Amino acid sequence: MSSTLGSAERPLRIGVVGSGPGGFYAVEALFKTKLTISVDMFDRLPAPFGLVRYGVAPDHPKIKNVIKVYEKDALDPRFSLFGNVHIGRDVQVSELKKFYDAIIFACGAETDKHLGIPNEDLSGSHTATEFVGWYNGHPDYQNRTFDLSHPVAVVIGLGNVAMDVARILAKTVDELNATDITQHALSVLAQSKVKEVHIIGRRGPVQSAFTPAEIKEFHELATATPVVKAEDLKLNEASQKELANIKHPVRKKNFEILQKYAAATEAPKEKKIIFHFLKSPVEIKGNGKVEKIVLEKNVLSGEAEHQNASGTKVFEEIACGNIFRSVGYRGVEIPGVPFDNKKGTFANQEGRLTADGKVVSGLYASGWIKRGPTGIIGTNKVDSEETVHHLLADIAQLTPCEFPQRASLEEFLKKKSIRYINYQDWQKINSVELERGKPLGKPREKFTSTAEMIACLNK
Ligand code: NAP
Repeated sequence: MSSTLGSAERPLRIGVVGSGPGGFYAVEALFKTKLTISVDMFDRLPAPFGLVRYGVAPDHPKIKNVIKVYEKDALDPRFSLFGNVHIGRDVQVSELKKFYDAIIFACGAETDKHLGIPNEDLSGSHTATEFVGWYNGHPDYQNRTFDLSHPVAVVIGLGNVAMDVARILAKTVDELNATDITQHALSVLAQSKVKEVHIIGRRGPVQSAFTPAEIKEFHELATATPVVKAEDLKLNEASQKELANIKHPVRKKNFEILQKYAAATEAPKEKKIIFHFLKSPVEIKGNGKVEKIVLEKNVLSGEAEHQNASGTKVFEEIACGNIFRSVGYRGVEIPGVPFDNKKGTFANQEGRLTADGKVVSGLYASGWIKRGPTGIIGTNKVDSEETVHHLLADIAQLTPCEFPQRASLEEFLKKKSIRYINYQDWQKINSVELERGKPLGKPREKFTSTAEMIACLNK
């Protein structure tokens, strides 16, 4: 008879796909179990930490301190990293199943929602993902170009990603050069002629998705002033109710900051960050590249907490050179994994993957690919704990995998000529990046391609 999964004779083998917060919090939760366990984590990039490395704004370094927590688990002898292994491309899920009793997908939400308006993809109209990935050194986005020679840029969306994009566009190089933004991005931003950043929200100030800390920063910028029209802060009855809802104290704080901006009397600085509420983008115009965005004025209707925006057939245009669409993310499908096309997540019930509503044994999800792109980094801790709780409760029903030895997986990857990156390799890449940053007065200078990272290991 085979040994019980999780015993000293037959450790529980778990594969985690994705090395961002959803993946690392799952590992943390798994390591709290008394079972004998070993975990392999995969990432398609050689560098771990996903969103923390490639999504968090470079001028928000404190948020990245969470890496120290993840590193504790990465150095645990029960853990191994397999970076530079693309699950779904280099290795199929059907192959991966042979090496793990259970797999947790924590591969985030890597692509964008679309606006569905004419000329959405005109040159000069970018997704926030492209811009954020580009300035954060993500290898996928280094071939993007951003011509910032026009004085007006437009950012669509009222979430924190939109605030990050607006702030990076509005900051001076002096405000950014001691961060881990790439030197290439810094040199392009140094030439920027952008003087106005227009932030467009389809609903009102009370329905904004940003948080107070993020909009407060606009007031502290060296050469930019936030601009809010007092008339935009006049609320309908339902919005007044939403503002008074004590379950959402953030709304009140946001609103107070916006009121302060609307009432400001000091002379504006050289650049302006201009908030627009109740306006939806309906068309992008331009001959070969972005020249204008057409906005339709909206009204809100519906009960408090369920208000929707609808168009009024009143239009306005903003002449601009760049548009950054920051209206939320979606997960990317992996062959062999059930996908919920409506939500843009892997179909799941509290982290157990499901196909046609039925639980699929041995497959789980955590983080944004489980619940969608919401919450702060810490939200993924509770989310991953729920998934791991279910996984551990399912142990008796799991089908033990065929090749539970880590060495078998390593052999399999080598046979496929996959140059995987383990955590020690990453530590070397990391230390070279830190060294590269020193002469520039930066915390690190990132490698921006897989080839560079691998070359640094061969030295
Ligand atoms: P988000 O918070 O969901 O915001 C998306 C915004 O896009 C909303 O204002 C939404 O408006 C708007 N939108 C959606 N569809 C639209 C359309 N068709 N036309 C116009 N506007 C549209 O998403 P996010 O900014 O990508 O952020 C993702 C998550 O990461 C959030 O939880 C965020 O807080 C978090 N994050 C946190 C930080 C931080 O803590 N510093 C930084 C970055 C991101 P509606 O409300 O009307 O749908």
